[in-house]
Amino acid sequence: MVKAVVGANWGDEGKGKITDMLAQNADVVVRFQGGANAGHTIKNRYGKFALHTLPSGVFNENTVNIIGNGVALNIPILMKELEDIVSKGVPKPVILISERAQIIMPYHIKFDEYEEERLGGRSFGSTKSGIAPFYSDKFAKIGFQVSDLWDSEKALMQKIESVSVQKNVLLEHLYHKSAIDPEETFATLMKYKEMIAPYVCDVSSFLYDALKADKTILLEGQLGTLKDCDHGIYPMVTSSNTIAAYGAVGCGIPPYEIKQIISVVKAYSSSVGAGEFVSEIHDEEAADELRRRGGDGGEYGATTGRPRRMGWFDCVATHYGCRLQGTTDVAFTVLDVLGYLDEIPVCVGYEIDGKVTKEFPVTRLLRCAKPVYETLPGWNCDISGIREYEKLPENCRKYIEFIEKHIGYPITMISNGPARDDIIYRRSPLNK
Ligand code: GDP
Repeated sequence: MVKAVVGANWGDEGKGKITDMLAQNADVVVRFQGGANAGHTIKNRYGKFALHTLPSGVFNENTVNIIGNGVALNIPILMKELEDIVSKGVPKPVILISERAQIIMPYHIKFDEYEEERLGGRSFGSTKSGIAPFYSDKFAKIGFQVSDLWDSEKALMQKIESVSVQKNVLLEHLYHKSAIDPEETFATLMKYKEMIAPYVCDVSSFLYDALKADKTILLEGQLGTLKDCDHGIYPMVTSSNTIAAYGAVGCGIPPYEIKQIISVVKAYSSSVGAGEFVSEIHDEEAADELRRRGGDGGEYGATTGRPRRMGWFDCVATHYGCRLQGTTDVAFTVLDVLGYLDEIPVCVGYEIDGKVTKEFPVTRLLRCAKPVYETLPGWNCDISGIREYEKLPENCRKYIEFIEKHIGYPITMISNGPARDDIIYRRSPLNK
């Protein structure tokens, strides 16, 4: 059985925590897209960790952790993360890397930096992890697959030289930077080869056997629907597909095997980087208070430490986010944080050109969308530690039920704290 844990918002919804929790009963956890440009923060008995490339199943000894072909593989970062968790007492996890995954080359990171520098004030706010240049090269068919590292020295060198010719024109004439040295690139790739050799395998065939053996496989998404390259707030999106459907492509399993899609939705909104964000809180004081209280230790990027932009819950964006994911279950997270508010605005529609819509529009129209709010009473108390739905304060249940009705997808899990067992399971009236 395959389950996917994905984000229905702008990312940072708490997918790491939900995956870590569900991974306890999973045989396999798979990363299927994205790279080290975003991170999951996980708090468990070993401590607090920010994972960027490692799947969140690495804390369970019996779980196989897979880096699928859809991932932008930064080999030194992956190795450093692995060393880091082991040095903190986590038993060495089982890791498999797809031989079809492509490698982030050192020049991808440089191109990312140089392009942001060139764009200046018009930049994308990239994390400069090389993700956009990486995916551009992958689709331009000049990327390097992990399996290429085992090609003959001559063939690999020829490929590096051919790619360098093209890249060096841009480096010299557009960015005025030093050229790629093919010899040095080759030597770097040989180091990478040594680092990952023990982990490389035919992932789709491994998963085929795992499915036949009736194993539980968890697909772990990065970022959220609104950062999906096709369905998100283009162009302020990531360069890969963040929706569950891509899970099949990104590790090589049939799409019909994905039976459960758990969309992680945060009880308020946050977004990192530039881009349209209709329910953003513009009152700096109010935004800062939520930012400081948010998540576990504040809403600051797990990879970059950048302060996140804060917003009220957005039913329009979340309905759309859940719809594109194909949600079977919503995990509603970080609800405990809202306990300090007397009243809580919730965005229930967008006003565009004088008309109110509940459908999330294309970016051009998002730019002029104004949020339509309904304000709900707060519950003014700490709900952490509660384990039964009925024990939540009435106004808190009303907040959940109001949002569930507006987004139209069943909220079956409520997370009221960062730890694994801070979870309330609920039978949703929307479940048949
Ligand atoms: P991800 O990329 O979707 O995994 O999101 P993040 O790594 O940004 O996780 C969100 C942050 O919120 C992390 O610091 C988590 O430990 C924390 N977190 C997750 N769920 C909850 C929750 O229910 N309550 C609180 N207070 N923090 C949570």
